Amino acid sequence: MIDIHSHFLPRISRAEAHAVNPERAPWLAVDADGKTGQIMLGDKPFRPVHDELWDADARVRGLDAAGIRLQIVCATPVMFGYAWDAAQAADWAARMNEKAAQYCAGHPTRLRWLSQVPLQDTRLACAEAQRAMGQGAVGVQIGNHMGAKDLDHPDLVDFLIYCADNAIPVFVHPWDMMGGPDRMKQWMLPWLVAMPAETQLGMLSLILSGALERIPPSLKICFAHGGGSFAYTLGRVDNAWKHRDIVRKDCPNPPSSYARRLYTDSAVFDPGALKLLTDVMGSDHVMLGTDAPFPLGEQQPGSLVKSCDFLGAQGQQRILRDNAAAFFGLAA
Ligand SMILES: [Zn+2]
Repeated sequence: MIDIHSHFLPRISRAEAHAVNPERAPWLAVDADGKTGQIMLGDKPFRPVHDELWDADARVRGLDAAGIRLQIVCATPVMFGYAWDAAQAADWAARMNEKAAQYCAGHPTRLRWLSQVPLQDTRLACAEAQRAMGQGAVGVQIGNHMGAKDLDHPDLVDFLIYCADNAIPVFVHPWDMMGGPDRMKQWMLPWLVAMPAETQLGMLSLILSGALERIPPSLKICFAHGGGSFAYTLGRVDNAWKHRDIVRKDCPNPPSSYARRLYTDSAVFDPGALKLLTDVMGSDHVMLGTDAPFPLGEQQPGSLVKSCDFLGAQGQQRILRDNAAAFFGLAA
């Protein structure tokens, strides 16, 4: 199996984070046992974590137990730094990418990495994405928006065109969730309601703006969490496109006709949802993504895909391995 969606957060010291941004740069507070810790933002705990997040040897032991041959790791979204000064964020992204390369270096056949980029500056973002490919990245991860700029914004479209022209696969992860703490303060609602909506917003921004008419079809772009709310609400979007000119005005073809320009991971946790997702995207456009090592990820990697007989052996093999190998240009 190849897992295309997992996160790392390296050992970043408090001093290193505070030197960049005392309030927002993340760092890692590891407990005395070396096995557990906290991601810290400023001096506040953000999330309890365990050693697979920063310790590649522990990660590979987990991969062995789960039967995963290769896992692609990317930054935990709190590492993005999109709200900072661009030059500072560019320096930070380069350092985080060095740490990603180091994380994978001891296990080159088991771990590969996606870069992060200073998306607030398109020129710097393109340069870092290209530099990172030269350092061994297999693609780039971006957030689904950059402040008020969604994926239809010319700056972000330019970045995606650059990735298409330079054969850099893109993984889009939801982050900085809508709704805010006033309305979503309990029960992990930002992750359960706003995150799927953010992902859908990213996908619809590309489709309804007509950006996919301008971005070369060579772009390989994959969205996390099965595309969030996208597949389930696509009929509603098509209906709106048919009956309202303000939905159609920038998008010359039915929204659903663009779905197969996009890819998603398989992290939907329900056979019916995976059936719908593969019907909408095509089973050749869905790839195993566990969201490890976080609790909202698939705890037994591959178990959902393997439980779905409707995929057939070939469809399962595609989602568990072959699609990812083709998408990222890896050996199957
Ligand atoms: Zn994730």
